[in-house]
Amino acid sequence: MADLDILLSEYAKFENSLRKVMSEICAPHCCACRRVCCREELCRETIESPFLCLLHQKFPPPSAYCSQNGWLTRSGCALSIGRAPVCYHFLCTDILASQRTPIDGYVLEVLADLVNHLGKNAFAGRHLVAIMNPDDLYCVKLTRFKKRLAQVRSAYNIIVDYFDYAHLDAESISTLSRIRPFPSDKIASNMIAPMLA
Ligand code: SF4
Ligand code: SF4
Repeated sequence: MADLDILLSEYAKFENSLRKVMSEICAPHCCACRRVCCREELCRETIESPFLCLLHQKFPPPSAYCSQNGWLTRSGCALSIGRAPVCYHFLCTDILASQRTPIDGYVLEVLADLVNHLGKNAFAGRHLVAIMNPDDLYCVKLTRFKKRLAQVRSAYNIIVDYFDYAHLDAESISTLSRIRPFPSDKIASNMIAPMLA
């Protein structure tokens, strides 16, 4: 398999896992939302990015892009694979406010940043999604991508466990901090201490 094919498959596999967990968290809010934040202008990045277009070819969405609503359909976003990183990164105030503790909020923000982190510095300092010359995608170093993939997978596993057990040890905090600094100044030490015990 060529490097680019491996990269597309591995990226898609990770995005798919992440989308499922994010959907579980966000769907109760988004389904009842009266001011849906998806807009065609936001979807447009997905059809302008050569990398995301390749993902759509490899994993075709069930409906076509619409010039008025982008990928937004009555049942939500038509894309399972190949959404823009911002589609995961954006957490509205309602979703953030519904988190039980500041640590829950922090963990969710790290989760929301994982796709963005995965594509960073892919080629010539550019994000994978921001490489506009399709030929440059063949220059992306698979070894570097796999290193980032290992980082985001570790963080993802820690976060999924956290959702089940509400526990982070010092090593987990250190791993998550590589994606997004841990806000020690905003999280009271009496909340962290029991988890590190
Ligand atoms: S992310 Fe927030 S603003 Fe956007 S659709 Fe969901 S609930 Fe609504
Ligand atoms: S989640 Fe889907 S519909 Fe919403 S902005 Fe992103 S691509 Fe468009």
